[in-house]
Parts: sequence; structure tokens; C-alpha cells
Amino acid sequence: MPTLRPVTPAATTTAAPAAGASASASAPPASLTRQPGTASRGQPADPQKFKVTDGPSAIDGQGAFAGEAIPARRKIGEMRGEFVDMAEARARARAAEKASGRIFMVAISDKRAVDATHSTDPLRFANHSCQPNMVLKVQQGRVAFYALRDIAEGEELTARYGETHHAGRLTCRCGAPGCQGRL
Ligand SMILES: [Zn+2]
Repeated sequence: MPTLRPVTPAATTTAAPAAGASASASAPPASLTRQPGTASRGQPADPQKFKVTDGPSAIDGQGAFAGEAIPARRKIGEMRGEFVDMAEARARARAAEKASGRIFMVAISDKRAVDATHSTDPLRFANHSCQPNMVLKVQQGRVAFYALRDIAEGEELTARYGETHHAGRLTCRCGAPGCQGRL
């Protein structure tokens, strides 16, 4: 399994890989609304396997939630976005952190990252938790989430974001037993 290296988790307490919740916690502009038939263009099948919604998070800002029950180990879906090289990713992360405090970016290798700022995939809102119910995997350049256990409809979906550019400067508020306290 590849090592996860979120370029920049949300600037707040979430460590979302990119996470984060949105700066505004509001819906994306209409222009970003998913257009049926275009969202998965060029892909053999819809990578979103289970219904996921976004809404106010108990952890931080906006979060991702299971729209239906999800069995353990199943692929839930992907966080898609624009591929950018690492220099561009870092520049965008700095700008976004300054502007909104919310960053939706995950490093997929030493050289590239996925910027989901303009994505409509609700999994981009997945918050960090020290006791997550999902695992984030980078597979062939794609950012996918899998269920670590059975997840009930309505549960907030979380993943552990390992190393972040915050280097432990942020307080984690995931509330999980055994929370490491820092991001
Ligand atoms: Zn925590």
C-alpha cells in the first residue's frame, strides 16, 4: 500500500487529505455541479460505488456521510480532481490556506497530486479521524476510499490522514478514543 502523503490537509483541524471541508461549507457553484454523463467521461465505470452525501460535520466544517449502509472492505468511491505537479500543488495549497483555510489536495506520488477543489465528489469532504471508518488508497493515480468496517447509513465518513504539511501544529478534534491530538 502506498504511503499517504496529503499535501495539505484542511487548514483547520481536519486533516482531510484535502479535505476538508469547504471553506464556506456551502454548495459548490452551479458551474461545478456534476453533469450527468460527463463526470465519468473516459472511465469505464462510475467509481462512486455507494451513495455519499455532504453536510455539517460534528468534527469540522463540512463532512462526508454514508447515504446508505456500506459493508466492510467495500470500495466506497473516489475523490477525483485535477492532476497537478508537486510544485503547483504546494503553491495552490499555500494560496488556498491563506484564502479559505480549506484545501482539497492529496499527493498521489512524489511528483503529482490531485486537486479536488473543483470536484463535486462528496468524498472530498471526508474529515480526518484518529479512529476512521475508511482507508484512503492511491491506486494508479486515483484516490479511492474503502470501508474499514460496516458503516451505517448516516454515519460520518472519516479517514486517517498521515503526514501533513501541518507537522503537528494543529489540534485534532476528531473526538475518537485514543485521539493523537495533533495533525
Ligand atoms: Zn484525533
